[in-house]
Order: sequence, then C-alpha cells, then structure tokens
Amino acid sequence: MNDPGALTSHQPPSPPTPAGSGAPDTELIALYGLDWLLLDIEGTTCPVSFVAGTLFPYASENLAGFLEESAERPDVQALLQEVIAAWEADPDPAAAALLKQRQPVGAALESLPYLQWLILQDRKLAPLKELQGLVWERGYERGDLLAPLYPDVHGALERWQASGFGLAVYSSGSVAAQQMLYTHTPSGDLRHLFSHWFDTRIGGKKESSSYTRIAKQLCCQPGRILFISDAMAELKAADAAGMKVLFSDREGNPERDPGPFKVIRSYTQLKAIP
Ligand SMILES: [Mg+2]
Repeated sequence: MNDPGALTSHQPPSPPTPAGSGAPDTELIALYGLDWLLLDIEGTTCPVSFVAGTLFPYASENLAGFLEESAERPDVQALLQEVIAAWEADPDPAAAALLKQRQPVGAALESLPYLQWLILQDRKLAPLKELQGLVWERGYERGDLLAPLYPDVHGALERWQASGFGLAVYSSGSVAAQQMLYTHTPSGDLRHLFSHWFDTRIGGKKESSSYTRIAKQLCCQPGRILFISDAMAELKAADAAGMKVLFSDREGNPERDPGPFKVIRSYTQLKAIP
C-alpha cells in the first residue's frame, strides 16, 4: 500500500519539499490498473506563461488588424453584432460613455473600443472569447504563435499511446482552442494522440460531477482514469469522483503545494506496467 512508486488517489503525507528546490524528479511512478490519462493543459503540458504572457497579449494587440481584415466574414459579422448588442445593454457607466463616442455604425472597428475595454476588465463575454480564438487561429496559421509544450510531453504522449492508454484533454480553454494549441507545437501536429477533448461544457473543473461525466463519456470506471493537473481544487474534485490523480509541479506554476497528492515534475517519471 505504501510502495513509494505506487499510484493511489490518496497518498500518505510525504516530507515537504520546497518548490523549485531541485526535489527529485527521477522518482518513478508506476502506471498500472489504468485505461485512460486525462490531462489538463496550462501548468500540466504547457507553461502557464504561454497563455497569460503570449496568447492574451497577442489577441489584444492583433484584434484591430484582424477586424479590419475580416470584417466581411459572416462569422465575424455575427460575432460583432453580438458584441454591439451586449454593449448597448451594458449597464456599466464606463461602457455607456464609450458608446457615446463610438465610430459610425457599421464601421469595421465600431466595436473595438468596447472590446478593448472588456479585455482590460477581464470580462469574459462569449463573443469576445470567440473573436480571441479567431485571432489566435490566424496567429497560429501565420506562424506567429507556437505552443511551447514542456520538452518531455511529446515523447510521453507517444509512449502512453503505444502502451495502450487512451488519452484525453480536459481544459478550461474551449475545445477549439485546445485543438489549435496541439496542432501547432514544436513537434508538429499532435492532435492524433488524443481521442477525447473536454472543456467546461462538460462542467466546471472544480466540480466532481464533471469528472463523473467524463468517466461516463470515456465508458470507463473513474478509478481507471489518471487525471493530471497543477490545480489542487481540480485534483480534489477528480479524486472525489474516484479518479487517480497527480499534481503537476512545474517551474512558473502559480500553485506549488501538492497538498495530499503525489507530485510529478516530468513525464519521464511515469512508467507503464502492463
Ligand atoms: Mg492547469
């Protein structure tokens, strides 16, 4: 039970190791009794800084150019109409003040001041999120953006798939954003390695019912699924649903305390045991 290499959902407390202290990242963790690996993205397969430090600034800096170029696209026009409707209904006095100064109705950049204001307020209006996704899509296609996965991720995904594990993604970014990210990595397009993709449409990542639903969709007992994430609240929710869990501890992650969970610092630590 207390085999140090065993993977159980409830780990006995281990001596604390200070974050970034060079704690051993060579300890092997056995993968057995499992059928699926369910992976978070940010802080788990890709640095958190890519989203906060690259993707979001890229979307704000390139939104105007994108709108000018894409004003004729029906999908963009539909999203902009949604933005205008939300702007006209926005009870915030700052939004109303912006509305008084807006450009002529129908201009490509009519809604830009409101969109930039929403970004500054960190308001997650659905059409804004979709427009950001389209800006990223163009950025990836142009080669401006490349998702910097941790160097051990690609090899591990290949090994796990070759060992017969099913691989799935669960991230708060939309499935479209997840797939864009895994399409454009330094190792090329890795989408084929995953068979299932989940975002918050299945439920919030801190709710254990989401993990129960994911297990149902994977047609698998929760106890045969290993979920890896850098967020303790997510691990607690998955653990409560009966999944096995590992805490991803990577340089630059906002959370470094694994609580009661076993830590993984590199996927070279995971060894499949048939
Ligand atoms: Mg994460």
